[in-house]
Amino acid sequence: MSEILSQLWTPELQMAMTVFVVMLVILYVLSVVWVVRDAYLRGTMWYVWAIVALVPVVGIIAYCLLRPPLLQIDRDEQELEVALKQRQLMQYGECGNCGYPVEADYILCPNCHQRLKNQCVKCGHALDPSWTVCPYCATSLPAAPARRGARTTSHPHQQAAPQANPAGKAPLQGATRQQER
Ligand SMILES: [Zn+2]
Ligand SMILES: [Zn+2]
Repeated sequence: MSEILSQLWTPELQMAMTVFVVMLVILYVLSVVWVVRDAYLRGTMWYVWAIVALVPVVGIIAYCLLRPPLLQIDRDEQELEVALKQRQLMQYGECGNCGYPVEADYILCPNCHQRLKNQCVKCGHALDPSWTVCPYCATSLPAAPARRGARTTSHPHQQAAPQANPAGKAPLQGATRQQER
């Protein structure tokens, strides 16, 4: 029996076994390093997880099952992304005629061709039909009759802005009219 074993235990097999064991050790060390690093990045108590990870196989499986779900950096990034999306949404409204989503600076509805905004003759910015002065270049505008459905029903923040300060608007309007004459 021992003769057969010694015959099977060739130098090649010995070599293969050594390589296999070395690989296992490297894998074990790497797994511990990974757990420590990952736990640190996730903002958990990494030293506790380091001790857990020292238990071969079981340690790393336990960590994979119980680790906190998100990296701290990812969490921050997600919050930023949500804030950005909300700001982008604030720039959108919908066509008063057909309800098609339109951006705040659209002049026409791309869907039904309803006129949404006037265009400043001087700087070309899109202007709300109710405005009597261009907020971008201070050009006073001809008092166009406000059309029904021509205003975008956008976010309340946007519509509140031009009407919020009527006292400040009047002198500016008068000043620009005087400049023109
Ligand atoms: Zn439309
Ligand atoms: Zn303008």
